[in-house]
Amino acid sequence: MTQALEAPLSISAFTFDQTGGHFSHLACKECGTEYEPKATHVCQECFGPLEVKYDYESLKRTVTRERIEAGPNSIWRYRDFLPVTSENPIDVGTGMTPLLKANRLAKRLGLKELYIKNDAVNMPTLSFKDRVVSVALTRAKELGFDTVSCASTGNLANSTAAIAAHANLDCCVFIPSDLEAGKVLGTLIYGPTVMAVKGNYDQVNRLCSEVANTHGWGFVNINLRPYYSEGSKTLGYEVAEQLGWKLPDHIVAPLASGSLFTKIYKGFQEFIKTGLVEAKDVRCSGAQALGCSPIYEAFKEGRDFIKPVKPKTIAKSIAIGNPADGIYAVEQARNTNGHIEAATDEEIIEGMKLLAETEGIFTETAGGTTIAVLKKLAEQGKINPDETTVAYITGNGLKTQEAVQSHAGEPLTIDPKLDSFERAWDRAQTLDRLEWQQASV
Ligand SMILES: *Cc1c(COP(=O)(O)O)cnc(C)c1O
Repeated sequence: MTQALEAPLSISAFTFDQTGGHFSHLACKECGTEYEPKATHVCQECFGPLEVKYDYESLKRTVTRERIEAGPNSIWRYRDFLPVTSENPIDVGTGMTPLLKANRLAKRLGLKELYIKNDAVNMPTLSFKDRVVSVALTRAKELGFDTVSCASTGNLANSTAAIAAHANLDCCVFIPSDLEAGKVLGTLIYGPTVMAVKGNYDQVNRLCSEVANTHGWGFVNINLRPYYSEGSKTLGYEVAEQLGWKLPDHIVAPLASGSLFTKIYKGFQEFIKTGLVEAKDVRCSGAQALGCSPIYEAFKEGRDFIKPVKPKTIAKSIAIGNPADGIYAVEQARNTNGHIEAATDEEIIEGMKLLAETEGIFTETAGGTTIAVLKKLAEQGKINPDETTVAYITGNGLKTQEAVQSHAGEPLTIDPKLDSFERAWDRAQTLDRLEWQQASV
């Protein structure tokens, strides 16, 4: 199936889709030009990104806390707020991940009310990307695509391949050729065609834009991007619902393209707009790896444009050198009195270990980045200890084992004899635990 780029339509020309859903059209984030809700993502007038628009009056009449609570135990309990019309969206159990009160980590950081939103255990592929892909592939089916694709830093390929398999869609994904083994195998196992491109993510993405034009496939983060990105709003909705229908005071989330960060905030605003929670100014802080930190640099230098960079960091899943929503992320951090900070690779590894040792959560490098930045902001007094703070953990550590392989210590190998155990146990006791940790960093 080939999809030509859609010409802009005047609003009066819309035939509002009455088959379900409260979304009406796409509109350019920059100039407001409106488009039919098809597979298109760039404004033809000004090249700005397109975003899904909703009828909030109709939403306000429909949604209630009770209606949501009675829904499925997945992101689809919020389907009124998502850009789909299907009776049966693709539900593979994505979403409703734990919101953990992180008392031990809070104590270490001098905070009082800290929560971890744990998408390291999201379903089916253990990252937050399952949210955006569940929405994008549901929309892809509605729009008649039979082949789906993506340009991925790893997790997106895992999600697209897995959910496409479940939804009986053909799948061809594109990844940089230097990804972690767990991310590559975690894609191949679902049987898609995998293109490992000799280049970085930004080059993969450029190639995919060309393929999208020539092959007419549904690229979840290119021509389906307006729908895809809406899936991240559920990370805002869930936290609000899990806090007892309240918004947090401060959030800390990782930044790759900046999409997740801006959509969590959009989710909060929509809950306020429809009367589901009381209004509150939520401070939004973002985390980047210093080895790929174009959003952090723009924030720090007070710029209103992004200077693309070449990524060089172990945090590959968030290594986007030319982030599509980067400038919106900078604006959001500024406007909400938040911050954007960056962490070195060493700090990222320490962040992964800190979260594991205090809260029992093994996150990947992106999560290590978030924890490292959370720690920095707490130490710099940029998070008020009394603020209800939520740190978003977006991926699972088993997928990036390379990063911590030589930093986690070794098991003590013993003979199957009691005296062998006793000797090893004595040795373990005399090893100062802290020295142990430092020696292994
Ligand atoms: C993709 C990804 C992100 C951030 O994605 P955005 O492009 O900013 O929406 C964060 N964490 C992990 C683990 C990811 O895979």
